[in-house]
Amino acid sequence: MLGFFRTWRRKRALRRSTLDPALWRQVTGGLPFLQGLTPAEWHRLRDFAVLFLDEKEMHGARGFVLTDAVRLSIAVQACLPILNLGLDAYQGWVGIVIYPGEFKVRREETDASGVVHEYDDELSGEAWPGGPVILSWQDIKLGAAGYNVVIHEFAHKLHMGRGDMDDFPAPHAHMQSEPWLAAWDTAYDEFCAQVDRGMDTLIDPYASEQPAEFFAVLSEAFFTLPQAVRSIYPELYAQLALFYRQDPATRINA
Ligand SMILES: [Zn+2]
Repeated sequence: MLGFFRTWRRKRALRRSTLDPALWRQVTGGLPFLQGLTPAEWHRLRDFAVLFLDEKEMHGARGFVLTDAVRLSIAVQACLPILNLGLDAYQGWVGIVIYPGEFKVRREETDASGVVHEYDDELSGEAWPGGPVILSWQDIKLGAAGYNVVIHEFAHKLHMGRGDMDDFPAPHAHMQSEPWLAAWDTAYDEFCAQVDRGMDTLIDPYASEQPAEFFAVLSEAFFTLPQAVRSIYPELYAQLALFYRQDPATRINA
């Protein structure tokens, strides 16, 4: 029943869509990593973006005014990773909160002697299990090859449905779990050793913090800097291509 209702609601949303073609061209033209999508993929991306905007609720925080271009840009970037997984990969939550810039969150940490420390953290994005995704528009605008805060936070969302955050997400049913986990373990060990030695790395050293961050940061790079990921981590690239059911290195002329 729920499945039928969702399908009907989606058909209706697509039928009633008033997405302005000029706005679509303007927004997607500013996202170079979309280059090389096939006509069928472009079509699906547009449909997904329309449905995403219909099903999710975006709110501007700290006075940030959400324009149609901001909303569409976030929807398009969020829908790229699930283009071949389906919109239901983002089921179970609705809220997206957008701040004009980085936002402060209060953290609490208990040290080894049991003392609780409180401190403020400045974040560009955050994803809550079962809850909202929080994003900084300033950081979305800083998106570049290898850096994409929207893909990062939505990769966390995909992870949350597939296991806990101190390990790598579970592979999909069509994948074998042994090569998937082996590729992550090898790449993560190697990456953390490089960060410890202070070496220059392809992706942000922040990715060494925990497996969830390594997965999210590599997902950003997979979609926006795929050829570099493929040449440095060929096994992991192949596994990510199976996971996302996409092969971005073959479509982007970097
Ligand atoms: Zn993260």
